[in-house]
Amino acid sequence: KSKGKKQAKAATKDVKLNAVLGAGIMGGGIAYQSAVKGMPVIMKDINTDALDLGLNEAANILGKGMQRGKVDAKTMAKTLNAITPTLDYNTLKDADLVIEAVVENPKVKGIVLKEVEDVVADDAIICSNTSTISINQLAKSLDKPERFCGMHFFNPVHRMPLVEIIRGENTSEDTINAVVATTLRMGKTPIVVNDCPGFLVNRVLFPYFAGFSKLLIDGADFVAVDKVMEKQFGWPMGPAYLMDVVGIDTGDHAADVMAAGIPERMARIGDDPVTVLYKEKRLGQKNGKGFYNYG
Ligand code: NAD
Repeated sequence: KSKGKKQAKAATKDVKLNAVLGAGIMGGGIAYQSAVKGMPVIMKDINTDALDLGLNEAANILGKGMQRGKVDAKTMAKTLNAITPTLDYNTLKDADLVIEAVVENPKVKGIVLKEVEDVVADDAIICSNTSTISINQLAKSLDKPERFCGMHFFNPVHRMPLVEIIRGENTSEDTINAVVATTLRMGKTPIVVNDCPGFLVNRVLFPYFAGFSKLLIDGADFVAVDKVMEKQFGWPMGPAYLMDVVGIDTGDHAADVMAAGIPERMARIGDDPVTVLYKEKRLGQKNGKGFYNYG
């Protein structure tokens, strides 16, 4: 028995250097989370403005911690120093685990994943933070799909404990074990799930959003619904506010993917208020206006 245990342990890759692709809401948050837990991280994007946003995200979280007396200047400097921003793929060559967190577009992700595979070591692990795209579909862009799985963080990364680790049909157990171990080192709670539309959390969450949209079409007021769900029902936030946090574009797109994956239960309804907001370019907190205005 103990021999088996030892073998299992030896198979788990020791991840020392993380990398994140995309320095947006999620990439910036993942980079912060890695750095604050002492795992150095490379953060790659396609332009310096985006990298600055990612670094600012980390600096803001640390700044708030300082205001509350929970973070000192030394920790702030150490954490920010552990994040290496870059525009250059070659910087990724020593990364042990790369987390792709670029825009939720299967074509872009497919290209980016292949570009990553071309620069990293043969035994590096590659993950995607996709909310909705099939892991099996993304795996097709890689030569070695056994080293690939989903690693789905939630927004805001520094506050949400859960990480869904999504096993594709070709993902190896060694890959899953290493990603579980890394998730724990990053201070998060891993669950391993199989690939399916919405994985676990969005499979539960999006029928709730769909019910909310239907209520609005039937004449309900979103502020009133938020008030009930938050103040009276006791959830941390109501559906309209949550959709603004997630991003109206991300939410609208995810609803489409759920509809394609489970048409019998998740078919979109005409004039879905989330789609209407998306068409009006009200993208939620990320651009200061969604269901609510932020200023
Ligand atoms: P975002 O729009 O805030 O950031 C995307 C970033 O990717 C941008 O900085 C963009 O410049 C960069 N990018 C685009 N193409 C690139 C490329 N070729 N190489 C490197 N960088 C590139 O998006 P986000 O909300 O952070 O979402 C990123 C991923 O995380 C998506 O797959 C999304 O579904 C998933 N996700 C989002 C949430 C959420 O609540 N927003 C939650 C969980 C997962």
